[in-house]
Amino acid sequence: MAKVPGTKGLNLDESLIFERSRKGRTGFSLPVEDQDLREISTSHVPAPLERKDGLDFLPSVSEVDVVRHFTRLSSWNYGVDSGMYPLGSCTMKYNPKISEAAARRPGFANLHPLAPESLSQGALQLMYELQQFLAEIGGFAAVTLQPAAGAHGELTGIKMVRAFHLDVHGRPRKKVIIPDTAHGTNPASSALNGYEVVEISSGDDGVLHAEQVREAMDEEVAALMLTNPNTLGLFEEHIAEIAGIVHEKGGLLYCDGANMNALLGKARPGDMGVDVLQFNLHKTFSTPHGGGGPGSGPVGVGKVLEPYLPVPVVTHKGDRYHLDNDRPKSVGKMRSFFGNFGVMVRAYTYLLEMGPAGLTRAAELAVLNANYVKSRLEKYYHLPYKKICMHECVLSDKMQKANGVKTIDIAKRLIDLGFHPPTIYFPLVVDGAMMIEPTETESLESLESFVSAMKQIAKEAKTDPGIVKSAPHNTRLSRLDETLAARNPVLTWSKHD
Ligand SMILES: *Cc1c(COP(=O)(O)O)cnc(C)c1O
Repeated sequence: MAKVPGTKGLNLDESLIFERSRKGRTGFSLPVEDQDLREISTSHVPAPLERKDGLDFLPSVSEVDVVRHFTRLSSWNYGVDSGMYPLGSCTMKYNPKISEAAARRPGFANLHPLAPESLSQGALQLMYELQQFLAEIGGFAAVTLQPAAGAHGELTGIKMVRAFHLDVHGRPRKKVIIPDTAHGTNPASSALNGYEVVEISSGDDGVLHAEQVREAMDEEVAALMLTNPNTLGLFEEHIAEIAGIVHEKGGLLYCDGANMNALLGKARPGDMGVDVLQFNLHKTFSTPHGGGGPGSGPVGVGKVLEPYLPVPVVTHKGDRYHLDNDRPKSVGKMRSFFGNFGVMVRAYTYLLEMGPAGLTRAAELAVLNANYVKSRLEKYYHLPYKKICMHECVLSDKMQKANGVKTIDIAKRLIDLGFHPPTIYFPLVVDGAMMIEPTETESLESLESFVSAMKQIAKEAKTDPGIVKSAPHNTRLSRLDETLAARNPVLTWSKHD
């Protein structure tokens, strides 16, 4: 029996629900069959529920066994609702519960996806207005809500880029330029659309320079894919000049907008010369995520790409909302029905709750919190780029390596101290990177307690490196073979294992 985190060393019974099974034990009670009543009507009184042959694989357990089983399992997990979750690039901020309540409203949750337009007006209005809000926030002419996640949004965006070149230049062109700081989904989305990926390096100051782009840019380049702020948490300050260079050769500028937290109400990618961008509603606009979904990756486009938007597009005429499928240049349908509608309801609710002033304040606090953490930790951890950062900051293990303590050890030790680790070993351009995104929803007190955990680990790395290298010490399981776990997940219980 191992210790369970958060139980202060208490030994908890780890047995699975199946192993708790005792013949004859049940979690329900029904009235004894009423014989008199049964004589009157056999249909109203249930015969005693008896386990039939063939159902004996189900555990025989009491209600309290079941409740304790699931409560115990939930305590083995860690989420934003349990504590700070500074996973860089993922924007694991607190998501207001009102967004959940709105998504669960029966009118939204039970609406059949094949309901006709006339019976879906409320849902269509919400989608139409969300398109408008996102277009306004990003500075775009139009938005599609179809893609189911960020990477799917990238796939959709680059598909539109391809359709544009085919239509306007008669050929799709061959290459997409991507800087070395990019998220791995960027080259994947380009390759899936049949493009060759050309990697270019950012400057010593962590941002892309016009020179690099000018050298790589020619008339075979369909698009440059940029992330701004980039994955080092730095603002791509030459973006307007870069956009000019790309456009001069007939290319388009794609911006990966997965993390819009630093820009909300402050700057609009469309105004920076960006032609197409995906938003991750599940990062910036309030949806709990992680563990595989659900997500939503709407794509905003400038005027030039509008004809290629996926169908259907939600339109508004008079006082009615419509699904427009009559778009001859469209790239087609990207997702069944309307996309992940529940995530759209959450984003819409969040936007109404925050309003323009609230969103702007969120951006300010996201940037302030990241810079606070950076300034408090730069004495203890190597800071590769000494600049003001945006919504996240990147540190490395350079100072701890002398004592044999690496980023992975620091991350594991943070678990002992009650925190979800930051993103590690990404971006690839920083050796031993730790990418910390505190988000705007953390208070000064919680930032301080994260800082003091990180300071404690830096101190231990000097005085007692063994304790860091053998962490975590009080989790149910210690270091897992993550590759094996991902490739060969064991997701079901079997009595033969
Ligand atoms: C999260 C993220 C993505 C991918 O988004 P998914 O919803 O996970 O597909 C792409 N780019 C960046 C920069 C991200 O942080």
